[in-house]
Amino acid sequence: MSSEKTTQSNTVRRLDVVVVGAGFGGMYAVYKFNQMGLKIQGFEAGSNVGGVWFWNRYPGARVDLPSIDYSFGFSHEVEQEWTWSEQFAAQPELLQYINFVADRLDLRRHIQFNTRVTSAEWNEQRQVWVVKTDQGEVLEATYCVMATGPLSIPRDPDIPGIGSFKGELYRAARWPHQPVSYAGKRVGVIGTGSTGIQIIQEVGPQSGELFVFQRTPSFTMPMRNVKLEANYVAEVKRNYAGLREIARNSPAGGNRPASTRAFFSVTPEQRLSLMEDAWKQGGLAMLGTFADLMVNEEANEHVANFVRGKIGDVVKDPVTAEKLKPKGYPIFARRPCLDTSYYETFNLPTVHLVDCNEEEILEITPKGIRTKNREIELDMLILATGYDGLTGAMLAVDVKGRNGLKVSQKWAEGASSYLGLMMAGFPNLFMTTGPNGPAALANIIRISENDVDWIASAIEHMAKNKQTAMEPTSQAEEGWMTVVATLSKRSLLNKAKTWYLGANVKDKPQGLTMFVGGFPKYREYCGLATQDNYKANFKFEADAARV
Ligand code: NAP
Repeated sequence: MSSEKTTQSNTVRRLDVVVVGAGFGGMYAVYKFNQMGLKIQGFEAGSNVGGVWFWNRYPGARVDLPSIDYSFGFSHEVEQEWTWSEQFAAQPELLQYINFVADRLDLRRHIQFNTRVTSAEWNEQRQVWVVKTDQGEVLEATYCVMATGPLSIPRDPDIPGIGSFKGELYRAARWPHQPVSYAGKRVGVIGTGSTGIQIIQEVGPQSGELFVFQRTPSFTMPMRNVKLEANYVAEVKRNYAGLREIARNSPAGGNRPASTRAFFSVTPEQRLSLMEDAWKQGGLAMLGTFADLMVNEEANEHVANFVRGKIGDVVKDPVTAEKLKPKGYPIFARRPCLDTSYYETFNLPTVHLVDCNEEEILEITPKGIRTKNREIELDMLILATGYDGLTGAMLAVDVKGRNGLKVSQKWAEGASSYLGLMMAGFPNLFMTTGPNGPAALANIIRISENDVDWIASAIEHMAKNKQTAMEPTSQAEEGWMTVVATLSKRSLLNKAKTWYLGANVKDKPQGLTMFVGGFPKYREYCGLATQDNYKANFKFEADAARV
């Protein structure tokens, strides 16, 4: 493998791999490639590791998968030495964990922080990626790994006047590092997705008054978080290998039981009792109770109605309750949320729901928010308005492949790749948790580990065979995109306007281009891709004479 060399000029560093991003995917990539003896450089725009959990310090931020599952499985030492305190860890504990991993495995020395990669261009003649950063550096690397994540580019709402607001303005995904006080303040929150829900239930009781600007209500279910008992943690530590294996073989990459029971295969009384059990159990138990919720609209509607009933049971004001009940799209078609006290928050006399469908937001003013009916004065405005998901972070870097083809041109009609890992026309460029894979539908850490391991094997294969460039054939990519499209057509995920479909970003190509077939099936496809010594689905170039 190549070591650092001086190339065209003394200022260009020559590397084996550049890794962009230091979230879970980037951290594992840096670890793995270093273990392989590769010359690597990681770049991260933030000042430390953690990706989403570095940036998202908003009040109430908490993972909605069990912490035990939402943790690295590649390091026995890390698994044994780290102890989770809660079933669903809060952001500070997650960030502590991530920093613990970085310290324990000495990852930071490979990562340059406060540095954004601005462009990456394939040099055909030299068979390298020429990578530039906002710090003025230029590097050359045989491989470029984009570990930029599916949810890293936050978006402001399309509301005029944001810049004019004179109060405190916070974006959930760029939360300040110093504490924020809500006491006695009139706070507004725009957005009621997973992020908004977590903020609202936390800030509601602490603020003087809270105005929740809701356009589309989300379904949320009780998290029923618990502290983890020492005995349980000890048992988990003894069984981590088995738990990881179960996770790798479960559709969502976790240890939640998945049912094979169809909704209408049991009596109405049994269904009700199963739904009550799932509600009591909390977490995403409901999703695992019946096998056909994402393909059978009638079954889905029964579960949605059950949850609407629960909202009505909690929220005392019937008008507010009605507004909070999601209608017009299937449950779980938007990302299901888990809450600790979301609906209860609306029983506080100081918390007000503003239904943006009835009372449209016209503009943000220096004093607050002007709706169709009134101006609501605010001391603080919090934007929880989501992300340019799946493709945003890749497109934020000017990536040019063969013949100067930009990713933005290739994806003009929507993201297209082979397995979300590689793209025809972009040799030696890899993505972790890329679009067209299962990202967002399964545990991102399990996917990241799968993807980095797959990339590592590809790099080893190339080194062994003295190959300089590798890319999927157009047929392989088209075949994969057909698999993705065929499966996605059946899915009820198509029936809600969400970031999954690109619906939240103006002029973005629309459509469900994620792999909805489940994590084990995805892993199977990743394995099949390399069959026949990679010959069936990839093109290689070998030229030892190139510099
Ligand atoms: P999101 O689900 O896209 O929600 C954005 C919210 O902002 C929506 O309610 C949207 O309403 C609203 N919005 C946008 N523009 C608006 C406007 N002009 N006026 C009024 N409302 C507007 O984003 P998110 O909540 O940040 O969640 C994104 C993803 O991050 C989640 O799906 C999940 O995968 C992940 N996440 C996970 C966790 C966790 O693990 N606990 C926590 C947070 C986030 P419309 O729907 O009507 O557009």
